[in-house]
Amino acid sequence: MKVQAVVDDLTRRFPHEPEYIQAVTEVLESIEEVYNQHPEFEKANLIERLCIPDRIFSFRVTWVDDKGKTNVNMGYRIQHSNAIGPYKGGIRFHASVNPSILKFLAFEQTFKNALTTLPMGGGKGGSDFSPRGKSSAEVMRFCQAFVLELWKHIGPDTDVPAGDIGVGGREVGYMFGMYKKLAKEFTGTFTGKGLEFGGSLIRPEATGYGNIYFLLEMLKTRNIDVKGKKCLVSGSGNVAQYTCEKLLELGAVPVTLSDSDGYIYDPDGITREKLDYVMELKNVERGRIREYAEKYGCKYVPGGRVWAESGDIALPSATQNELNGDAAKHLVETGCIAVSEGANMPSTPEAIEVFQKAKILYAPGKAANAGGVATSGLEMTQNSMRLSWSHSEVDARLKQIMADIHAQCAKYGAEPDGYINYVKGANIAGFMKVAKAIMAQGTL
Ligand code: NDP
Repeated sequence: MKVQAVVDDLTRRFPHEPEYIQAVTEVLESIEEVYNQHPEFEKANLIERLCIPDRIFSFRVTWVDDKGKTNVNMGYRIQHSNAIGPYKGGIRFHASVNPSILKFLAFEQTFKNALTTLPMGGGKGGSDFSPRGKSSAEVMRFCQAFVLELWKHIGPDTDVPAGDIGVGGREVGYMFGMYKKLAKEFTGTFTGKGLEFGGSLIRPEATGYGNIYFLLEMLKTRNIDVKGKKCLVSGSGNVAQYTCEKLLELGAVPVTLSDSDGYIYDPDGITREKLDYVMELKNVERGRIREYAEKYGCKYVPGGRVWAESGDIALPSATQNELNGDAAKHLVETGCIAVSEGANMPSTPEAIEVFQKAKILYAPGKAANAGGVATSGLEMTQNSMRLSWSHSEVDARLKQIMADIHAQCAKYGAEPDGYINYVKGANIAGFMKVAKAIMAQGTL
């Protein structure tokens, strides 16, 4: 395989899909050497079979708003690979959603899910519907209309969606309710469900907690304690909130949060009480992070990104390509020692190069945020067994999974000077598992 030739070919065939090409390029560059040691992979054209999704569904979603106006959005589900288990991956509702973004997410998900060691394939879905400013009744009607099409393609052993940006417990509940009615069965076809109807303890916390468990594993390799460390967190949604919660539990000091309008910087630290306020503001009142600065009298930067500040640890937890090369240089120059990604592909290729050149600890989302889907996998297991594990049991499993993912990255990503290239480690470990499964199952 020659990476550039494959990327050029994919770019020619999918010219309007920059995020997808970006994600594929990163993976291919890091697996090239290992791949080329296996001529049987090339003979079986494993690369194209891995890069191109099994299938893509796209559909019109028609729904009526509170004023009686009929609206039309696009809906999608990308089923990337079911080589190691049913398709599994979240649903994103955001105005920016398009096939390129969902294809990159589904591709990444396939390798991430392989890393968790649980039997889950990769998929992703969503809509360009923006929940921002919509009433709960509008969100419910949209979710129902979305599932009216989606339900035909999903099932507990076929494809199991979950949440992502713009899709939390409320939306999963509405989608599950509609699915259950159409399919006439109560099965664990969605994860991230409410605790009363099959959800798992720790699932809401899992991505943020898992990211910090991964960070602790990285810090351990350099004998660094997280206690007292100043942390820059972006986003203020599910992942950002539980990232802050775990940091506080460990005595670290989160100082920033953001949303798509701007960021806050609180030099005194976001305390437990302030985090409770953020959770109420974002999850119940559906307000803006600007209101935090108004309440606590701290700095608010409209349109800015948290990476303009300095901190010991950076935890990007908002969206793709939110941290560019210049921001990465600033972080390194101002003493940042570790970056662990809660979001998917938040660092641009230029930013990753800066982190790796400076030899700071850097974990890609594929490894560091896999705790979310891993706990979804645990929810599927509990649903199949028709029982619920305790808080401590799920948390212990999550911790162990994150430690195992770290160990896989260290095994495949160790460089001669001892530096762990977590990008390479995660990509090779995930790829080898999926590749072997595809090879064993014949040409399909
Ligand atoms: P939420 O919708 O709960 O929160 C997303 C946050 O990011 C919000 O603060 C949102 O601001 C901000 N944001 C979204 N888009 C943009 C943008 N284009 N520019 C700036 N800010 C933006 O989503 P999650 O917390 O669940 O997801 C955050 C990230 O973590 C995503 O990359 C997701 O793919 C990833 N992830 C999530 C998992 C999960 O379990 N939920 C699992 C693994 C990864 P605003 O409110 O203004 O839109």
